[in-house]
Order: sequence, then C-alpha cells, then structure tokens
Amino acid sequence: MAVPGAQQPPASPAQALVELQSGNRRFVTGNPLHPNQDAGHRTAVADGQHPFAVVLGCSDSRLAAEIIFDRGLGDLFVVRTAGHIVGTEVLGSIEYAVSVLETPLVVVLGHDSCGAVQAAREADGAGTTPPGYLGAVVGAVVPSLRQAARQGVDDIDGIVDIHIDHTVEVLLERSVTLNRAVREGRCAVVGMSYRLAAGEVRVVRSVSATEDVALAAGPAAPTAHH
Ligand SMILES: [Zn+2]
Repeated sequence: MAVPGAQQPPASPAQALVELQSGNRRFVTGNPLHPNQDAGHRTAVADGQHPFAVVLGCSDSRLAAEIIFDRGLGDLFVVRTAGHIVGTEVLGSIEYAVSVLETPLVVVLGHDSCGAVQAAREADGAGTTPPGYLGAVVGAVVPSLRQAARQGVDDIDGIVDIHIDHTVEVLLERSVTLNRAVREGRCAVVGMSYRLAAGEVRVVRSVSATEDVALAAGPAAPTAHH
C-alpha cells in the first residue's frame, strides 16, 4: 500500500496535519506501515533533514512521537519535556526547526492522566513546592490550573486540555519567530491530546497559518515571563 506523501514530505501546514492524522489512524487501528525506517532511507536522509512537523510533547514514556504517528527517520523534529513545559531551550529548538529547517507545522502533544499536571495539582492544592528542579515543572503548569479554576474545570483531563491550549498560547506569545511564521502563512500550530489506552490523538486547539496572532495576546499570561 502506498503511503500518500511518504516519498514527498508534506510542504504545507494542512498537508502536514493530514499526514500526522493518517499515521495516527494507522497506529490506532493496528495497521502501521513504519515508513522511513529502513536502511535505504537512513542513508538517504543522512545528508540533510526536512522534517514536516515539530512535536513538542510530554516526556511520558508512553507518548513516543514516531510510534504514535507511524513515521520514521527525518520526519519529525521532536522536543519533549515533562508536561510539555516551555523554557528558552525549548523555544530555541522550535525556532531552529521553523526558521532553518522550514518545518510547516508545530504540534503541542499532551495526554490524558498527565503526571506533570497531576503533580502540579497536588503540590498546588497542598501549598507545597517539590524539591529541586521539579519545582520548575510544577510552576509552569500552575497558570493552567488557575485558568481551569476560572473556567470551573475540575477533572484532570479537562485541565490537561486547558494546559495544552495554554502551551500553544505560550509558544505564540514568546516566540517572535514562530508568531511571524504563522502570520506569514509558513507554519501552523496545533494542540493535540493523546489517549494512552486508545492511542488516538484529538485536536484541542488549532491556529491556522495566516491567522493573525498577536504577540502577548489575550489576558496577561503569567507564564510569559517566568
Ligand atoms: Zn505527561
């Protein structure tokens, strides 16, 4: 069976999204094609990479990007942190892909029962700060907890959706490079939530290419400057 776009990497944000969604469908239904994982392709991409999507995902061991989207070498530019929290190295990595590699799609990938979100919720509820650098992870999730409280959302997966949406906002607010790429139609940003048991992704938030996304848009986001 031919994989549409397997040989010709998707060039537009819309094509890139279709490619990810069809790969996820193959994974969910147990019919993965494992494209671009053979020795021939490994050699072919050794001279240069043209990934069609950036995936900023949670580090959770069950959220391996190439597996759940049924892709291979050279396809995805992957950045992962616990709770997909955003710091300067994350922003720099995404900007490298968008500006130098001209990757047309940035995906924020969260998932149900996210441990980072749960840990933040517990620490925040108890009024404690976890030791060491764990505090940074919790601190970056707290604004999403506040947003959820304002919206009256109390279940963990509802909070996860809000945190994914918030991460999309943070990327567009903090990265001038990404913001410009979106406004100029070169890139889109999509927030997705993955279900651990079912293996499927669901779009939570979509910022299309050419959408007019202001820097520091919306209500003052405390995470924008932490
Ligand atoms: Zn997680």
